[in-house]
Amino acid sequence: MRIRFLGTTGYHPTETRHTCCIVLPDQNIVFDAGTGFFRLREHIQPGRLDILLSHYHLDHVCGLQYLIDIVHEKEIKEVHLWGPPGLDQIERLFQPPFFPLPLDQFPVKVKLHTIDKKKSFSFRGHRVKTQLFPHDDTGSLGYRLHTDGKTVVYITDTIADPESFELARNADLLLHECYFRNSMEERALETGHSYSSLVGRFAAAAKASRLALIHINPLDPEPEFCLREVMEHFQGAFLVIDNQEIDL
Ligand SMILES: [Zn+2]
Repeated sequence: MRIRFLGTTGYHPTETRHTCCIVLPDQNIVFDAGTGFFRLREHIQPGRLDILLSHYHLDHVCGLQYLIDIVHEKEIKEVHLWGPPGLDQIERLFQPPFFPLPLDQFPVKVKLHTIDKKKSFSFRGHRVKTQLFPHDDTGSLGYRLHTDGKTVVYITDTIADPESFELARNADLLLHECYFRNSMEERALETGHSYSSLVGRFAAAAKASRLALIHINPLDPEPEFCLREVMEHFQGAFLVIDNQEIDL
């Protein structure tokens, strides 16, 4: 299974990283739609596209405004958006003065699926489990996707809690945010983000096979520092860069 990192930072883009967007090119499944979403057109197939959203802060959804180009060039027939409660508000991104074309006038059918109490669901044969993690008012939805014989877990924008690892248990690949170094623990707890040692302990408790660090702090000049701190607790961690593709 291929996984391609189209955006690997949080909050705002940098010269080398766009905000969160990760695609499974062979499955037409996307995690979050940050600014890295513009790169999607090169990495999807005609047909149906499913986008799994963690929450609605703009660094995770602003890329949805680039959908028109992408669906037009790739002959996408249907777009399905999945996300926690609040998903109906996404239509505001497409209304004046923010955008000229309302979602219901798009040249392609866009269907919204709010994940409320239904924590497990399937689409096109892919099985998904979710868990709402704490983050600001709305929380951030973590996804456990089982497809092609592999389990990929996506968790971002929350304080990793090594006691609450069930969603990531035995994952082949855990994609987890790591926004702060250990020295910034206090800032992490204030802002609802993770710091290195918690992320490492979370992956170790879950017995994940590998851990890719995502949603890197755009202001950290040396993200490798976080990686070293994570690896004190979990050896299978690695740092990804934009446009990197890995095979599971
Ligand atoms: Zn974020």
